[in-house]
Amino acid sequence: MIRQKLRGGFVVYCPMGCKIRVSERHRGRTGKCPRCGSPFFVPLKPVRKTEAETAEAAAPPPEPGVFGKWRGWMENVHLHAVVPQKLKIKADSLLKDFQAVDLAFSEDGLLLVTLVTAAGLFGANEKKKPAVRAAVQQHLATVGKLDGLPAPAQRLYPVESLKQFSMAQPTPPDVDSLFAGVPVFGTNRIAVKLPKLGDETAVHYLSFSLSEFREFTARLAAAGGPDNLGADTDVPLVDNYQTFKCHYTDQVVQELIGLPYYQADKSFSLQLSGWRCGKCGLVVSEDARKKEKIGGLNGKGIAKAVCPKCKGKFGNHPLYSLAAPAANPTATPAMP
Ligand SMILES: [Zn+2]
Ligand SMILES: [Zn+2]
Repeated sequence: MIRQKLRGGFVVYCPMGCKIRVSERHRGRTGKCPRCGSPFFVPLKPVRKTEAETAEAAAPPPEPGVFGKWRGWMENVHLHAVVPQKLKIKADSLLKDFQAVDLAFSEDGLLLVTLVTAAGLFGANEKKKPAVRAAVQQHLATVGKLDGLPAPAQRLYPVESLKQFSMAQPTPPDVDSLFAGVPVFGTNRIAVKLPKLGDETAVHYLSFSLSEFREFTARLAAAGGPDNLGADTDVPLVDNYQTFKCHYTDQVVQELIGLPYYQADKSFSLQLSGWRCGKCGLVVSEDARKKEKIGGLNGKGIAKAVCPKCKGKFGNHPLYSLAAPAANPTATPAMP
């Protein structure tokens, strides 16, 4: 019976590379890998398009974030104007010292737009922001020129200056840092130094959360800026895992590399995948820990719990992975 059901099925791979056999009826659906728990997608069948459909596809609807020749619109990125003589070399000293700007790229370079100058009384200017943003985007889409942009301030970094954008936090090894390695832009935020425009005295920086930084550097590279900005630091430019096998179940336990950057960015949701013994490196999945009641039912006592292998104290070394995207109840079958 079962064998017959599987006939006509095909093989897909989960993001961790496990082989999963699925059947035709699973196409277009999301499942959870039975081996490692990673979410995976079963691709739809390639559909042959009619000529009319192909013509329709050739004129796609306006891409989000595109206004005239400006693309990759990002809202409320932190712009810091730093006067080196006034700088306090202290963690987080510039965290709240920024102006929120919107930005976009074109073949002319990078445009930073200040939509409102200050918060205003009781945040009044902040409330005006969406209307000012809409007017600026409308202007770029229709008039096109930066002259007459209906915003209080703008900065254009010409395309030939994009190559000079460089990492400021974290600082790559063997690069002299003005900040002496202190996270002045906020712990586990990422900052990029911008070249000077004209003879201004302040040095300008943009600072980002991890997800913002990934989006920005991809756009920057595509616009002619440096490739792989940040690749020589510990910033995880893509999601990477170290994988372990659970001591009890042989289940794969994933540890996200570069965890502090994810923890500092609210757009990621993390899940506890397991625990590592601080003494011998033994790894136990969270499922197995619960089952074996290491550190009690909820794991609160794990630091003092006895390691099943080395008999030393387990210590408090949680491992985290990215949580599966929120399940869509209509599209998520129990699989396989
Ligand atoms: Zn898997
Ligand atoms: Zn141990």
